[in-house]
Amino acid sequence: MRSSILDTAVEYLKGVGAARAKVLEEELNVTYFADLLYVFPFRYIDRSKFQLISQVNTDLPVVQIKAKVVSLQTSGTGRGMRYTALVTDGSGMMELVWFQGIRWIKGKLVADKEYIIYGKPNYFNGRYSIAHPEIEEITSDGSSFTEKMQPVYNSSEKMKALGLDAKGLARIIKSLLQTTYYEIEETLPFEILSKYRLIDRRDAFLGIHFPENHEHLKQAKRRLKFEELFFIQLDFIKQRLKRQKASRGHVMPKVGEFLLRFYNHVVPFPLTNAQKRVVKEIREDLSNGHQMNRLLQGDVGSGKTLVAFMSMLIALDNGFQACLLAPTEILAVQHYRTLARWASSTGITIAMLTGSVRQSERTPLLRQLLDGSLQILVGTHAVLENQVVFSNLGLVVIDEQHRFGVEQRAAMWKKNNPPPHVLVMTATPIPRTMAMAFYGDLDYSIIDELPPGRKPVVTRHFTDSARIKVFSFLKEQIARGRQVYVVFPLISESEALDLKDLEDGYLAMSRDFPLPDYAISQVHGRLNPDMKEYEMARFIKGETQIMVATTVIEVGVDIPNASVMVIENAERFGLSQLHQLRGRVGRGAEQSYCILMTKDKLSSEAQQRIEVMVATNDGFAIADADLKFRGPGDLKGTRQSGAIELQLADLLTDEPIVRAARDTATELLSRDPDLMLPANRATHDRLLELTSARKNWSQIS
Ligand code: ADP
Ligand code: MG
Repeated sequence: MRSSILDTAVEYLKGVGAARAKVLEEELNVTYFADLLYVFPFRYIDRSKFQLISQVNTDLPVVQIKAKVVSLQTSGTGRGMRYTALVTDGSGMMELVWFQGIRWIKGKLVADKEYIIYGKPNYFNGRYSIAHPEIEEITSDGSSFTEKMQPVYNSSEKMKALGLDAKGLARIIKSLLQTTYYEIEETLPFEILSKYRLIDRRDAFLGIHFPENHEHLKQAKRRLKFEELFFIQLDFIKQRLKRQKASRGHVMPKVGEFLLRFYNHVVPFPLTNAQKRVVKEIREDLSNGHQMNRLLQGDVGSGKTLVAFMSMLIALDNGFQACLLAPTEILAVQHYRTLARWASSTGITIAMLTGSVRQSERTPLLRQLLDGSLQILVGTHAVLENQVVFSNLGLVVIDEQHRFGVEQRAAMWKKNNPPPHVLVMTATPIPRTMAMAFYGDLDYSIIDELPPGRKPVVTRHFTDSARIKVFSFLKEQIARGRQVYVVFPLISESEALDLKDLEDGYLAMSRDFPLPDYAISQVHGRLNPDMKEYEMARFIKGETQIMVATTVIEVGVDIPNASVMVIENAERFGLSQLHQLRGRVGRGAEQSYCILMTKDKLSSEAQQRIEVMVATNDGFAIADADLKFRGPGDLKGTRQSGAIELQLADLLTDEPIVRAARDTATELLSRDPDLMLPANRATHDRLLELTSARKNWSQIS
């Protein structure tokens, strides 16, 4: 790569020098000229708009006023010392107060001079005041600042001590742009710039640091956000292509007897279009000779199990075995039941392996697995153990992936060579934008359609005072032959403490719903598997009408006749968990209900969550709301691969840009996989620069 003045150490920039360079490195991670270009203002002072002091009120988050200092005063001593300035703009008086940095501000404020003052107003002792406002002197030529928008940069005490406050930074960045403007090279192909009407890179840096006006700033940000997201996507997609090329996988080109027989004679309903599309995507993956690593996302009840089974049949048709892993015993049992029904009508051998399978059954099972006579194994973590050896494992389906860690997946990889294909299924909705931005390196399928005829679950919120009403509603539903879940929160399955709520609830239920008219099942994590299984089975068979449970039933349980979900202490659940729980009902033909019980007084966040639940059934809308309430930082924790810090783009508001960047990157790489065409040269170089330094975003992969 050719060298550029932008690679110069920042020390040599006019106005910087050794001492400032050191602090820039320490505080902002700035080493070279180019790094400083990426120190962006966090806001802009628009010198054309001021409030009058008489208009100031505490509803305004911040105010900008132009006022003259009337008097200055120090009061208190030691830690209680403060410095007060009384200012006026002719419309009224207000106070500015400092509790810290008093020496510094004393040297800066002079009586009778006019300043621009910016900060959050408070009302105290009959007067408005601002604590620690930003202050700027109005220069004698006044005009220079009046129209343009001035950048404000973050600065630290250390930086301020060396004159690198917001203004000092603005000064050196201005000098940087003056020296390097013509050195700033375009990194995007012309075609893309023109297609998306992006301003050129130079103009974008100028516009983000020293915008001519609001429009200039807007265009500058748009261009730089696009660039940020585009290079992340480019990197992801390239890595994925590389990995696909490198990872050898079992080839399963054949659509054979099992799949056809199942599809034509056994499957009890027509597939939704989304199911068809996903099966097709998986089929392509399984036939191209590379190992599949696909994430399948579909809202609760969208019919992922069927897709999983059909994928397994492809493996079987090509002479391989398949395995389905579930996170809990209950779920494994349930999957086993469903799949065994389908398998037996198709003429396929299937078995289940969980921790509670006895040795006497285990031995023959393992033998059949090894000699290949067993075609499908459904199980829990027990399958991961070393003794479980397959004859020729071709596909592993992992249900509800967030309960399985990376190591567990790796354990399954080892069960054949080359490793089996992996399909990971999740119902935890990931906001679309997040998925695009962060799962760009994974193969990703989505079932975005529910089977026809589902009636949306009606969701209502009640507080404890309405309990009698709720109970009489439950009685009415049970009288109509429906079944009811009542779920209590449990922070973690191993925590016995929370069981008290459940047990109290169970007792109360037994009182209000007495035998012989009602029978109640109770399931929680502390029950031994046999008991759990027994209680579950009674409910599934309809011998009990009410299932009192903790969140062990959260994932996957599928009982179409259960049409009411009561969630106790709903305020203690997060949005995605509430949505998961609600997904347990609404699976049959009957109208279903979700009743959120809370105490009377709720925090505003809890209130918001409840309102979202009442308002929508759409998992993606809920995921978006979750992202909004909790912020993307929190959600990142749920991601599988490393963290990416986005500097400019905001996944909440910039979805169109994320989409455009992703489409553009995909399209570009499909035409020019190694970015070797002359028109893409600069893009190639920039990608190399970013991925070799990995400076602007941390550990992708
Ligand atoms: P999830 O995606 O939550 O795992 P399931 O696979 O458990 O969903 O499917 C939910 C319910 O929908 C099951 O009872 C299943 O039999 C049914 N189902 C799946 N696909 C279809 C379809 N295409 N048409 C009608 N019902 C379907
Ligand atoms: Mg499921």
